[in-house]
Amino acid sequence: MKNVSEYFGVNVFNDRKMQERLPKATYKALKKTIESGEALDLGVANVVANAMKDWAVEMGCTHYTHWFQPMTGVTAEKHDSFICPNGEGEVIMEFSGKELIKGEPDASSFPSGGIRATFEARGYTTWDPTSPAFIRDKTLYIPTAFCSYTGEVLDKKTPLLRSMEKLSHEAVRVLHLLGKTDVKRVTTTVGPEQEYFLIDKEMYDKRPDLIYTGRTLFGAMAPKGQELDDHYFGSIKSRVSAFMSDLDEELWKLGVYAKTKHNEVAPSQHELAPIFTTSNIATDHNELCMEVMKKTAEKHGLVCLLHEKPFAGVNGSGKHNNWSISTDTGENLLDPSKRPEENLQFQLFLSAVVKAVDEYQDLLRITVASAGNDHRLGANEAPPAIISMYLGDDLGALVESIIEGKDYKSHKAARMATGVDALPDFKKDNSDRNRTSPFAFTGNKFEFRALGSSLNIACPNYMLNTMVAQQLSEFYSELEGAENLEEALKALVKRVLTEHKRIIFNGDNYSDEWVKEAERRGLCNYKSLPEAMEHYIDKKNVDLFALNGIVTEAEMHARYEIELEQYSKLLNIEALTMLDMAKKDIAPAVMAFEQELSNGAALKKSISSSLSTYAEEKLLDSLSTKLDAFVNKTADLEEALQRTGDYKDNLSLAKYYRNVVFTLMGELRELGDSMEKETSAKYWPYPSYGEILFGV
Ligand code: ADP
Ligand code: MG
Repeated sequence: MKNVSEYFGVNVFNDRKMQERLPKATYKALKKTIESGEALDLGVANVVANAMKDWAVEMGCTHYTHWFQPMTGVTAEKHDSFICPNGEGEVIMEFSGKELIKGEPDASSFPSGGIRATFEARGYTTWDPTSPAFIRDKTLYIPTAFCSYTGEVLDKKTPLLRSMEKLSHEAVRVLHLLGKTDVKRVTTTVGPEQEYFLIDKEMYDKRPDLIYTGRTLFGAMAPKGQELDDHYFGSIKSRVSAFMSDLDEELWKLGVYAKTKHNEVAPSQHELAPIFTTSNIATDHNELCMEVMKKTAEKHGLVCLLHEKPFAGVNGSGKHNNWSISTDTGENLLDPSKRPEENLQFQLFLSAVVKAVDEYQDLLRITVASAGNDHRLGANEAPPAIISMYLGDDLGALVESIIEGKDYKSHKAARMATGVDALPDFKKDNSDRNRTSPFAFTGNKFEFRALGSSLNIACPNYMLNTMVAQQLSEFYSELEGAENLEEALKALVKRVLTEHKRIIFNGDNYSDEWVKEAERRGLCNYKSLPEAMEHYIDKKNVDLFALNGIVTEAEMHARYEIELEQYSKLLNIEALTMLDMAKKDIAPAVMAFEQELSNGAALKKSISSSLSTYAEEKLLDSLSTKLDAFVNKTADLEEALQRTGDYKDNLSLAKYYRNVVFTLMGELRELGDSMEKETSAKYWPYPSYGEILFGV
C-alpha cells in the first residue's frame, strides 16, 4: 500500500496543484483572493476554470457541480458535464470562468421560509475560492455559497464567511491598538469531533423507523447496554476497523486531516476527529466527512447512523466543536501563555468570549436545537440545555483574582510523576476535563460540546464568531481613546468578568442542584427546539446579526420559520411511521402470538382437563391488556395528528407537536416495548436492540 503522504489530497485542487498549473500572475491573484478576500476578476476565473477542468478531466471526470449548503440540513449538488459540441458532431471538454463563478440552481425547491415566492425561483451559487475544489465520483466539486435572485442568503456558508471576515476585522483593530500592527488577518479555527453509530445493513433494512427517521421509534432495551463501560476506547472489531481504514483513506484523498478514531461509550458507537483547520474548510470537510462515512459504510454492508439519538437507553451522538482564534503571524489568541496574569491581551480576548457566551447563551442553545438533539440535551449524557462555561482551576483562579483584585496563584500542576521508573514523566494539562460542561476551556481553545451529531457546524460557528466580534467592537470603542491604555484595559477586563461571572460554572452540569442554581443566576434553560427557537428573533439577537451584516432581519425570520416548520415535519414523519409500525406490524404480531397461546391452551384442555394452562393464560391476560391500551393509544395518536390543522403559525404548531404528539409517541412506545418483552422473538417483526447493537 502506498504511503499516505503520497496520496493525501490527490483528489483536491490544492495549493500545490494551483502553483503547478496556473500562470504565476493568475496564481498570485487567486492567492490574494483566498488570503485577503480581494475580489476576483473574470479573466483570472477563466484561467483557473480551464486549469481546474484540465486537471479534473485528466483524473477521469466528466462532470462538475456547484456544491452548496442550503437550509435543508444536507448539502446539495447539480451535475453538469463539461461537454460542448464542436460543430462537427463531436464534443470538446469546456469549463469557463463564468461557469466556475456562478451557477443557477432552481431555488424554489429549497427552503426559504417564505422569503421568496416560487415564481421568483431564480437562485445563484457563487464559487468560494477559500475552500478548495475536489473530485468525487468522476465529478469536480466546487464549494459555493447560495443566495436568491434578490440577494437573500439561502445557505449556511455565506453567514459563516461573513462572520469570519467580521471577526477578523474587529480582532485586527483591537490587536493594532495593543501594538501588534504586523497582524493583517485573524482566522477562526475549528476541529469538530464527530460521533456516529455503525450497524449492520441487514438489520437496518428490517426497521422502517431507521429507514424513514434515522432512529428507532420502538425497541426494548437489550439485557446489556453501556453499563460496563467496555466499549469506550475498547479494541475495534475487525469489520469496523476495515470500515475505518477505508474511511481514512477516502478522507485523506480528499485532503481531510482525519486524525483520531476510537470506539465511543455506547455499543456500536464510534468517533472520528480531524486536525483543526479554518472554520470554513472545517465546515466543508465535516459535511464531506459525514457523506463519505455513509457511502463507505454501504461498501462494507453497514449503515452509518448520524441521528442524535438512534437508540433509547444508550448514549446518543454529538459533535464537539473545538474553536479558537489565531493571527496570520501564528499566534493563538486564546492561548493563556506562561503568565496569563500578565497577559492583558489574552485576558481581553477571554473576556470577549465570556461576555459573548453570557449575553448570547440563548443563541448558543438555539443553534444546537434540533428534533434529534432534543433527545440528548438535558438527558444525563450530553451537556444540559443550560449554557455555561467551564474554565478549569487555573483560569478559574485567574478570573477570581482579577475580580477580587487579589494575587493569582497558578494551579498549574507542573509534572506528572507516574511512579514507575520505566515510564516517562510528562507535563500535565492546565485544566482537567469537565465532560459535563457545554462550553469548556481546553488549554488554548474552547470546546462547544452541545452540538448534535448531524448538525452542520456552520451555524454554531457563525454565531460564535459574530457574538465575539460584537464584543471586540465594543471593547475597541471603549479603549480607543483611553489616556492610559493599560489601566483602561485592566478596568474593562475586571468589569466584564465581574458582570458576566454567572456564566462560569466548574461543577457537575448534570446535577439537579445546578439546574436550581442556574435558575437563581438567571441563565436560560430551554428544553426543546420550539421553546428555544421562540427567542431566536428576540430584538437583541436580530440586532446582533443585522448590525454586524451577517444576516438581515428578514433572513432571520425566514430561518426561524424554516427551523420550526422542519421540526414539525420531522415529528409528523416520526408519528406516521410509528402508526404504520403499530398497526401493520406490531399489533398483528402480538395477536398472532396470542392466537398461538390460546391454541396451545385449547390443545392442552382437549387432551386433558387436568393439564395446567396457567402459563398461557397468564401471558395472554397480560398481553391482551397491553394490546388494548396499545391500540387505544394508536387511535389517540392518530386523532392528535388530525388536529394539527388547527394551528396556523409555525411556532404554535411546533409546540403542539412537542407537547401533544411527542408525548403520545413516548407513551405508545412504552406500551410497544413492554409487549416486545413478552412476545416470542419468532413473532416480533423487527430485529431487537440486542441484535442491532451487538450485531456488527
Ligand atoms: P479531546 O477533546 O478528546 O481532548 P483533542 O485535545 O485531541 O481531543 O482535540 C480535539 C480537537 O480539537 C481536534 O480536532 C484538534 O485538532 C482540535 N484543536 C486543537 N487545537 C485547536 C485550535 N487551536 N483551534 C481549533 N481546534 C483545535
Ligand atoms: Mg473533545
